[in-house]
Amino acid sequence: MTHKMTENCISCGTCVPQIHCPTGAITIEDEKYSINPELCNSCEGYYEEPQCVIHCSISSPVPTKAKKGRYKAETRIPTSSNLFPNGKHSPFASSIAIWEACNILTQRESLPWTVNAEGKLIYQRSIKQGQGSISFSIKDVEYSSQIINDDVIKVTDMPAMDIRAACLHLIYAAHAAVIDKPWEQEFVIDDQQIERYLGLEKRKDLSKATKLSLIKNLAQQPCNISTTIDWPQQGRINAFSLPEDQLWHILDIQHHFSEDSTGSKHLVGLTFRVKAGLWTKYFLNREGCKQGKAFYQYGILPQSILTTVMSIWQQHEGTARMLLWLLFKTKMGREQRLTVPTLMRVAYGEQKVIRASSCRDDRKRLIRTFESDLEVLNHYGLKPEFDPVTYPQEIQPMWAKLAALPDDGEEALDFWIDDGSKNTRLTDNGPRGKWNMLLNARILWFKLPEEWDKHLADFEKQKLRYSNKRKRTKKLAAICGEQIMTARKNQQLSQRQLATMLGKSQSWIRDIESGRFQLKGEDQMLLQNVLGLGG
Ligand code: SF4
Ligand code: SF4
Repeated sequence: MTHKMTENCISCGTCVPQIHCPTGAITIEDEKYSINPELCNSCEGYYEEPQCVIHCSISSPVPTKAKKGRYKAETRIPTSSNLFPNGKHSPFASSIAIWEACNILTQRESLPWTVNAEGKLIYQRSIKQGQGSISFSIKDVEYSSQIINDDVIKVTDMPAMDIRAACLHLIYAAHAAVIDKPWEQEFVIDDQQIERYLGLEKRKDLSKATKLSLIKNLAQQPCNISTTIDWPQQGRINAFSLPEDQLWHILDIQHHFSEDSTGSKHLVGLTFRVKAGLWTKYFLNREGCKQGKAFYQYGILPQSILTTVMSIWQQHEGTARMLLWLLFKTKMGREQRLTVPTLMRVAYGEQKVIRASSCRDDRKRLIRTFESDLEVLNHYGLKPEFDPVTYPQEIQPMWAKLAALPDDGEEALDFWIDDGSKNTRLTDNGPRGKWNMLLNARILWFKLPEEWDKHLADFEKQKLRYSNKRKRTKKLAAICGEQIMTARKNQQLSQRQLATMLGKSQSWIRDIESGRFQLKGEDQMLLQNVLGLGG
């Protein structure tokens, strides 16, 4: 009936022996925590549950004996409905707050951090060309850094942050997307659901205790991120400010124990009660959106993203970073024209790309890693479509070149004979200056797995139907690109000036005027007001 400390203990000091251990069994020697088996009685007579287990975020203390013949575990509180009812996709909140927090959890030290007056790490993004901003801070984060000047530092490592926590963040975003008022209502998730979502239930190499310890650790990381928002007027939505608030609040973690025949309690489950932060009132508010007071921004989360990240994060972190970043690209699966340096910055950070530009060995290593990470993306169904002009076959990865080989043996033989007669061969190393060519190379889009693509298309159709309905309700007269250009020129406005007035980019105006994109209802109204069109 005792507990012991495992090797996992990181001596974080959260379980304060004098406060949490009623029997004084926990001792610290040379910063190493241990439990005296003669004093530990699993908190019997003091608490219902072993306190050191409850306070330890990684469940380091474990019972000394694991005997057969456990009693039935206690009943758990009901959880929220399962995500991915079709086993494949679920809607999830996809606003900037969620996207940027996902970037924080995946790209960590690669982001441009600053330190505020209280010494907190801050990551800030400007909104609408500096008219507003959204900033993030992380509670109790350990990091190493180099000081550049007074408030600018270069974070070099954030060891306690784990890219897999981004999966939990997305799970929370999916749960929040299916409730009406996420800023008021909580959702309840337990370890069994999380195991299923992440594909951990198939991991026979991990013990239950290891899985629970991992889940508890990952579940808490997204809750350490807080956001402060200063949002400018955008379309019909008025400007608003939100004070610092956590993105996710864990209201309670319930630990479920079962007792063996010797009376030792074993942790067998966890239930998390979670509530979304105030940001949802402005970015995930269905009613508010109908009334033009808030946004309701959501996308489609394929379960395969979670399971893929969980299986590749160690060997191919660059792939996992790209995958999670691509999830938020609205035109996923459609033409995106992503440059190679953009993808490299996402996958490895700005510094590595800069270093590669000046050092040959770093450059070679980075190209090799990038090509291998692209291959993994391709393997998991996100097939890059190389731009034939900027990313020709001669600089494409070898695996992509070989994909063009005919399956038929005879045809393949002809192919190689033909290839041998050319000046440059398929298997030749990249040409001199490959790096410089890659800096201008583009991937047109990533072709998605069929199921995902179909779901996304249905989702877009649904959104379009909704926006058409709104358009009809508003009885807006359609304005074409040519009318916009004429009205703009009549008012002697440049594309840039009009873009600034609307809070859009110049390329957006150019695309609308050329008829490349359809105007959304709210943007049409905005243009009508600014240019005095239609209506
Ligand atoms: S189980 Fe209770 S008595 Fe034993 S070490 Fe932990 S806190 Fe102390
Ligand atoms: S809380 Fe857990 S990891 Fe931290 S010192 Fe206690 S047992 Fe070790």
